[in-house]
Amino acid sequence: LFSPSPKPGGDALGVLRDVFGYDSFRGQQADIINHVVAGGDALVLMPTGGGKSLCYQIPALVRDGVTVVVSPLIALMRDQVTALRQLGVRAAFLNSSLGLNEAREVERAMVAGDLDLVYVAPERLVTERFLGLLERTTLALFALDEAHCVSQWGHDFRPEYLQLSVLHERHPLVPRIALTATADAQTRAEIAAKLQLEQARVFLSSFDRPNITYRVVPKKSERQQFLEFLRENHPEDAGIIYCMSRAKVEDVAQWLNGQGREALPYHAGLPAEVREANQDLFIKSEGIVMVATVAFGMGIDKPNVRFVAHLDPPKSLEAYYQETGRAGRDGLPANAWMTYGMADVVALRQMLEQSEAADTHRRVERGKLEALLGFCETSRCRRQVLLNYFGEAMPEPCGNCDTCLDPVETWDASVAAQMALAAVYRTGQRYGAGHLIDVLRGNATEKVVTMGHDRIKTFGVGKDRTKQEWQSIYRQLVAAGFLTVDMEGYGGFRLTDSGLPVIKGQQPVQLRRDHVVEKRRSVRDSL
Ligand code: ADP
Ligand code: ZN
Repeated sequence: LFSPSPKPGGDALGVLRDVFGYDSFRGQQADIINHVVAGGDALVLMPTGGGKSLCYQIPALVRDGVTVVVSPLIALMRDQVTALRQLGVRAAFLNSSLGLNEAREVERAMVAGDLDLVYVAPERLVTERFLGLLERTTLALFALDEAHCVSQWGHDFRPEYLQLSVLHERHPLVPRIALTATADAQTRAEIAAKLQLEQARVFLSSFDRPNITYRVVPKKSERQQFLEFLRENHPEDAGIIYCMSRAKVEDVAQWLNGQGREALPYHAGLPAEVREANQDLFIKSEGIVMVATVAFGMGIDKPNVRFVAHLDPPKSLEAYYQETGRAGRDGLPANAWMTYGMADVVALRQMLEQSEAADTHRRVERGKLEALLGFCETSRCRRQVLLNYFGEAMPEPCGNCDTCLDPVETWDASVAAQMALAAVYRTGQRYGAGHLIDVLRGNATEKVVTMGHDRIKTFGVGKDRTKQEWQSIYRQLVAAGFLTVDMEGYGGFRLTDSGLPVIKGQQPVQLRRDHVVEKRRSVRDSL
């Protein structure tokens, strides 16, 4: 099965050209590859479609020995190994889809050095059997793909990833490269800490996906709105629709088929064969719409997905970025479209508050949800808000999102912003929106009275606005960067440097009108 033909060897650029057939490296690929080939550890943060795979595949062919790639996705392993073999690279995978004999043959080839790359599922890698095999193998590199799976806050958490530090403990001299398309500072720090990669060089690429047009529309009639979007922009294209529940996935898929668009459902409640068949069809055919829960998508390599639509908002901006990132991997124009309404917000909040999670966890989740809502409600360039969330500065509005293309109606919120920030400041920069809104609206709750916040100047100055309006104002102030949420502490707001001129009344603030108005109406409707 595995011919003992030698590695192509030679230099990285030669391998890129001779084996992969590309002319030149992209972005930071060359730096990353040189660093790893020289034996350094690397933490690579690169957006989906950025070209992460070559960052370990080329070192695997240049360095002596076998590269072990840890990947959580069986479908992805299979696709990558098939593609590599077609290029003449000696690659194989080990996961639960292999029979015993096949697995033994791969293990034998690995120990014999007849393979350049072995893809392994994390649960198999951490077995004593496999670790024993590694002791007898000449190792070139460990590649830890989808490294954000180590993060307990993210929705892709894989407990086995926590055990991957064993690789470094047992093989301290083998370089490691961890890769992910999740870029927020918190996940990054968690990856470094949990995988013992504090000393690794960090390669942070820009997370901008300039070919994706972002749009978020207030929900009126989601199906009608979506249908208009679809007919106008994507009458024949492949795309993905994300929904929150399995039942809704089934419903929407059926409805779309009734509208004359071929649509397939995908969620964790479907039998594995159905899921696999639907996924294969989606990837191989043109023009199919996949209606799915978050269970769909990680590792799906279909370059010409032209749109990603959210009929329900995702849980966080990380999730939004990941999910919308599946559109336009070929670099051609693509759409990220979302409808969002008050009922969704209420549902997400309830899910959060009712979850069994520990308080600290819930606090982090709450902060993430607020950031997402701030993004939905912003009157600023969406790309600026999104990249800013990932710690990337973008000086100019992008010109390729709804708020840039059709500026929204705003109102002069300078005074309201001043009040909102003053409430934060005068209560010691420690509290979240709930308490601050009580103070602003003059609710003498037990907490307000105990803290003496009924005696500060801000108490009651915001009576004339509803709780929902103030919530929207706070979210927009966070999205605009005037406030930050203290995620390490208790999730309270703190003023930023750019918030200071606002509180002093030196800088006017414009906030968007439509959502505030819509909120009032929907809240009344829901009563
Ligand atoms: P990621 O894993 O970061 O999502 P991939 O490794 O799947 O991205 O790469 C995305 C696409 O870009 C693939 O089709 C890959 O072959 C292509 N690609 C990567 N690097 C280069 C390069 N240097 N030149 C041309 N194409 C590249
Ligand atoms: Zn923009």
